[in-house]
Amino acid sequence: MGLLTVGTPMEWHEASQHATHVRKHGIVQFLHLWHSIKARRRDKLLWGDEIEYICVAFDDATRTVRASNNAYEVLLKLEEMEKAAQASGDPISWSFKPEYGRYMLEGTPAGPYGFLIDDLLTVEPNMRERRALANSMLKENEALVSITNFPLLGVNSPHSFLDPPHDPTPEGGASNSLFIPDEAINPHPRFRTLTQNIRERRQSKVNIHVPVFKDKNTPSPFLETAAPCLQDLSASGLGRLVPDAKPDHIYMDCMCFGMGCCCLQVTFQACSVEEARRLYDQLAMALSAGAPIFRGFLADVDCRWDVISASVDDRTKEERGVEPLKNSRFNIPKSRYASISTYLNEGIDDLLAKHYAHLFIRDPIVIFNEKLNLDDKTSSDHFENIQSTNWQTMRFKPPPPLSPIGWRVEFRSMEIQFTDFENAAYSVFVVLLTRTILSFDLNLYMPLTKVDENMAKGQKRDAVRNVFGNPARRPAEFDAFEDVGPDGVDALVELTVNEIMNGKAGKFPGMVPLVRAYLSAAPNLSYKTLKGLEEYLDFISRRASGKIPTGARWIRDFVAAHPDYKHDSVVGQSVAYDLMKKVDEMGRASGRIPGLSL
Ligand code: ADP
Ligand code: MG
Ligand code: MG
Repeated sequence: MGLLTVGTPMEWHEASQHATHVRKHGIVQFLHLWHSIKARRRDKLLWGDEIEYICVAFDDATRTVRASNNAYEVLLKLEEMEKAAQASGDPISWSFKPEYGRYMLEGTPAGPYGFLIDDLLTVEPNMRERRALANSMLKENEALVSITNFPLLGVNSPHSFLDPPHDPTPEGGASNSLFIPDEAINPHPRFRTLTQNIRERRQSKVNIHVPVFKDKNTPSPFLETAAPCLQDLSASGLGRLVPDAKPDHIYMDCMCFGMGCCCLQVTFQACSVEEARRLYDQLAMALSAGAPIFRGFLADVDCRWDVISASVDDRTKEERGVEPLKNSRFNIPKSRYASISTYLNEGIDDLLAKHYAHLFIRDPIVIFNEKLNLDDKTSSDHFENIQSTNWQTMRFKPPPPLSPIGWRVEFRSMEIQFTDFENAAYSVFVVLLTRTILSFDLNLYMPLTKVDENMAKGQKRDAVRNVFGNPARRPAEFDAFEDVGPDGVDALVELTVNEIMNGKAGKFPGMVPLVRAYLSAAPNLSYKTLKGLEEYLDFISRRASGKIPTGARWIRDFVAAHPDYKHDSVVGQSVAYDLMKKVDEMGRASGRIPGLSL
C-alpha cells in the first residue's frame, strides 16, 4: 500500500453522487498521461518487492497468541525514522507502509533494486534487515510473522483475538461484523471508509463462505454457532446460529477477513509500454499457497485469494445477477478483487482502452472532499482512485504525472512465505522469469477463461500436488523458443504445476529449466551469483514437484501433529500459539529450513 491521501472521506450517499465526475476526470487524467508518455523508451528494468507482516503478541503464561495493534504505533515510529534519515541524508535500505489491518505492517526496499543480475542477491539480505529492524521495535512478547492469515482472526472465544482486546459491534460501526471489531482496522480514514462504503454500496455485509476441511472428528454437517460474546444477541433476534452461515462452510462477514491477509507483491518497471504490456499478460499465473486456516478452522482451500475477493465485493444484487437490472447499470461478473479480465498486448490499442474501460465500470469507493476538483493535466488522483481499488492479479501502472518513473507492472497473486529465503526465492524467480520471457521472446498466452479456471484450481487444498495447472503451448514451438501469435484452445496442453515448473519430456521445457538456460547465456555472471540463484531455483523446483511442502501443507501437518488438536477442524489457542512461535522462529533463522524449504 503506497502513499495515503490526507483528508476527509465522503460517506457513500455523498460519494455515490460524484462517481460520474471521478470516472470522467479519471479518464481525462489517463489520456493526458498517455499522450505525454506513450512513446517513452529505454527506461531501465527496475523492480521492488512488498512484504506484509502480522504483528502477534504472545502470552507465555497462558500459552495464548493475539494479533497486536501495536504494529500501528511501530509503523508511526518507523515512518519518523525514515523521514529523519531522508532529511539528514543517511542511507537506509528499507521503507515501511500502512496496511489494512492495524495489526499489520508492510515493508519494501527504500527504492527499487539495481537492474543487474548480481543485484538479485541483495534481495534476501534487504528483506532480513527489514524484518530484524521492525522486530527490534516491538514489545518483548511480540513478533512480526509473515504468514498469509492470522489463524485466529475473528475468534473471540474464550477471549478476543486482538491485543488490546475489543468486542465486535455487529449493530454499528464500519463493518458491522459479528467477529471483527473496527479497532482491528488501520485508523487512517481511507480504510474505515472503504469498509463502510463497500458494505453500503452492496446494500448488505459482504458474505464469505470457505469450505471447511472435514477431519475424522469434524461434525457432519458442520454448523457454526455464534461466539459466546455474541450470545446475548440471540435474545435480540440474531439467532444462535451465525446468520448467513452455510452448512460445511466457515462463514466470514467483513473486509478485514480478506484485506487483513498478507501477500507478497513484486513490481517491475519495463523499458517501454509495449514491454510492460507483454509482461502484464504473461505473468498471469499463481505460484504459492499459504492460507489453510480461517477464523480458527482448517479450511478445504489453501489460499487467501477467493476470501479477499469476496471480502471487498461491493456489487449490488443486480450487478451480481441475483436480481434483474433495474437501478444498477451493468451485470458485473467479477468482484473488484479478481483475476485479470483482459490481455493488453494482442496488437491494437483498442485493447488498452478496453482494459481501462473495464476498470472504470466500478464506482470510486472513497472520495476525499479536498480532492474533488483537480487539474487533470497535473493530477492523476481520480485515475488512481479507480485504478487502485481494482485489485486484480496484475496491475498495469502508468507513470505518475511529471515523474521520471517508467511503465510498471505489478504481480499481485502470491501469498507471503514464512521466511525471507522463500520470499526472496519467489520474488527473484518472478524477476528472472520476466527476463527469460523477454529475452527468449516466449509466448505463454492462453485464453483468459483458462486463467480463471487455473485461479480456481490453484487455490484448492494441495493443488500443487493433485491438480492440473496452466496449460502451456504446443511443444514444438517451445522447443524452438519461437514466438507465435495466440490462437485457439486446441494449441494448449494441460500440465501439472510440477510439469510447468520442471518440464515434461516432449511437451514443455519447464519454467525452471528455461530460467537456467537464460542464466547460462547471460554474460559475466560470477560463480557466487550463479550459486545463490541456483539455491532459489532448486527450492522452486522442489516445491513444485512436491518434494518439499507448500506453506499451507506445512501448517496442516503441524496442526495435525499437535497433541491438542482433536481432529475436528478446530485450531485452538494452544495450537495457534505453538504454530505462531514456530513461524516466528523460522522467520528469524537464516537460510533454508529443513522440512520447509530444504
Ligand atoms: P503500490 O502501493 O502500488 O503497491 P509501491 O509504490 O508501494 O506500490 O511500490 C511497490 C514496489 O515497487 C516497491 O518495492 C518499490 O521499491 C518498487 N518501485 C518503486 N519505484 C519503482 C520503479 N520505478 N520501478 C519498479 N519498481 C519500483
Ligand atoms: Mg500491501
Ligand atoms: Mg502493491
